[in-house]
Amino acid sequence: MNGAPITQDVLTIPRKKPEGPVNVVGLTRDGLREALLSIGTPEKQVKMRLNQIWQWVYHWGVRDFDEMTNLAKDYRERLAANFVIEVPEVVSREISADGTRKYLVRIAGGHEVETVYIPETDRGTLCISSQVGCTLTCSFCHTGTQKLVRNLTAGEIVGQIMVARDDLDEWPERGQGTGVGGPRLLSNIVLMGMGEPLYNFEAVRDAMKIAMDGEGISLSRRRITLSTSGVVPEIARTAEEIGCMLAVSFHATTDDVRNTLVPINRRWPIAELLDALRAYPKLSNSERITFEYVMLKGVNDSDEDARRLVSLIKGIPAKINLIPFNEWPGAPYERSAWDRIEAFADIVHKAGYASPIRTPRGEDIMAACGQLKSTTERARKSRAEIAAEAGLGQS
Ligand code: SAH
Ligand code: SF4
Repeated sequence: MNGAPITQDVLTIPRKKPEGPVNVVGLTRDGLREALLSIGTPEKQVKMRLNQIWQWVYHWGVRDFDEMTNLAKDYRERLAANFVIEVPEVVSREISADGTRKYLVRIAGGHEVETVYIPETDRGTLCISSQVGCTLTCSFCHTGTQKLVRNLTAGEIVGQIMVARDDLDEWPERGQGTGVGGPRLLSNIVLMGMGEPLYNFEAVRDAMKIAMDGEGISLSRRRITLSTSGVVPEIARTAEEIGCMLAVSFHATTDDVRNTLVPINRRWPIAELLDALRAYPKLSNSERITFEYVMLKGVNDSDEDARRLVSLIKGIPAKINLIPFNEWPGAPYERSAWDRIEAFADIVHKAGYASPIRTPRGEDIMAACGQLKSTTERARKSRAEIAAEAGLGQS
């Protein structure tokens, strides 16, 4: 059927080695070097050719080898015969009344993921996906109701940044540097779309390395935030191999409640998670960790929770992002009342932590956190299945 996503209820199938030409997008510098050598680029030229191609692709946004005018014509032809420059295809784009843009992009195999662009006055943030679906089953998250189909490749991850720049028309004009003429429209990246980035570590790392590379998209590591549900063994590696900012989906102040909301807590409970977080800023040389805390009525939003939260995170440089729960059809929770959220924020704030309440953006197009794919997704787990997985029993 035309246009219908075919991602649902397919278990993870190891991908066959892709056939056909190699995609340049998503190759690390080392990978591209190998690829260029494999088509007979002389060893002593390879560094220069690599830099030229890298800049064409990631600085200028060029998608056609023929436009790479500083390469000899026969070499351009050889490149075109062996490689492609491919980014995911944008299937649809919705623009919210508040300017938020939601892209549905199609990746190899016909799967679809969402990418969301959120403009603000002084910056613009792109929320990108790292997996189709998610293996984890956080009970408040819509993505958690979708089975994992597969990990995205590095090219599909960095490709989301590239298609957003295409749409925003933000590749530099010839003769200009990046960011000339005011702040960038796309200035920040958050890995907060579909999927658990630390369960797709290598591809996420390679994609972020490409995004941070100074001869291309050139985003500072301080403008990239990776959000994890708490994959403890990969946290130190994130600091060492990516070095970006870290956000953690904390969401509860006791192991009992966190086991229900974020089931990965059964494997790596709060105390272990906090130890890994305590070590992060030093390892990555970044200032502070963002604690994400979704406000669920009567579940995790009491004054006592707020006080427990500040005592748990004592000593960790932190900011607490309070996220009013984004409801989705069949969700087993409700959003906390506004005055409850404010009272919670106040306690955290008085303890010395920034505690912004995240304004829901793009609600009219279902572009908010944890809602991605709501309108495009067909098959989903039943409410009973979700409740059972969350250990909520039947109600
Ligand atoms: N898998 C990663 C990143 C994706 S989720 C993680 O869990 O951190 C991005 C953020 O949105 C997480 O903090 C997640 O807990 C939150 N989120 C998920 N569903 C939500 C919902 N329905 N309402 C509000 N926040 C939600
Ligand atoms: Fe997966 Fe994150 Fe959603 Fe949990 S909150 S199900 S880890 S995407």
